[in-house]
Amino acid sequence: MPERLKMDLHVHTVYSDSSGRLEDIVRVAVERGLDGIAITDHNTCEAAALAIRRYSDRIIVVPGLEYDAREGHLLALGLVEALPTGLSAPEISRHVHKRGALVVVPHPNIPLLGMGREEIEDLRPDAIETLNSAMPFYNWLSRRNARLADSLRLPQTGGSDSHDGSCVGDSYTVIESDSRKMGDILKAIKDGRTTPEGRPSPMFYRARLMAGALLHRAMKGQVQESKNQRSEVRMVDILLGQ
Ligand SMILES: [Zn+2]
Ligand SMILES: [Zn+2]
Repeated sequence: MPERLKMDLHVHTVYSDSSGRLEDIVRVAVERGLDGIAITDHNTCEAAALAIRRYSDRIIVVPGLEYDAREGHLLALGLVEALPTGLSAPEISRHVHKRGALVVVPHPNIPLLGMGREEIEDLRPDAIETLNSAMPFYNWLSRRNARLADSLRLPQTGGSDSHDGSCVGDSYTVIESDSRKMGDILKAIKDGRTTPEGRPSPMFYRARLMAGALLHRAMKGQVQESKNQRSEVRMVDILLGQ
């Protein structure tokens, strides 16, 4: 039966760098009227697998992860196993597609963390996340990313990127799915039957999260010189509001 599902497609738990416990995440999601969540911890599917076993009777759980590729972060939706580390975005995309899962580019145009137009054009992901509640300049970036998705004819998603159980559902995706089954939900996303909706998370929380993420990325030393220069250009673009 066709369903109009409200799902937060980007949620972290204590199994990676979030303070959000699974039981709190599920409780908040249900209280906020979400039909489902995607658990997308950094480089691990452990919490996603656990959430499916424990909470599938209360809420739809799409397993996944957020991969730290050299070019920027990547979300894999519908994935139940971790992937080898140190791969490039195209290599990850091949792994993810081979397993029947989707590749979504989260928070585009965020220096060091999100891919820019050129990388997204090369990668051809299944969708891009145009609403992300954890990002700075939420309204401006959302409009910019929606224009990017339109120009590349890519489906759009929304997610909270919650690293704290209380922010779950700040942004979410309305999905026109043929059913509540994961296969139909993934197909609906790939087909572009999605509408991102939401609002930014609190300012202080976002600033702290962004500083931590950038520091983590810089310390990993994964950023190549050329990419660094492009990112600096993008940062200037962002600060100038272009
Ligand atoms: Zn990210
Ligand atoms: Zn994230």
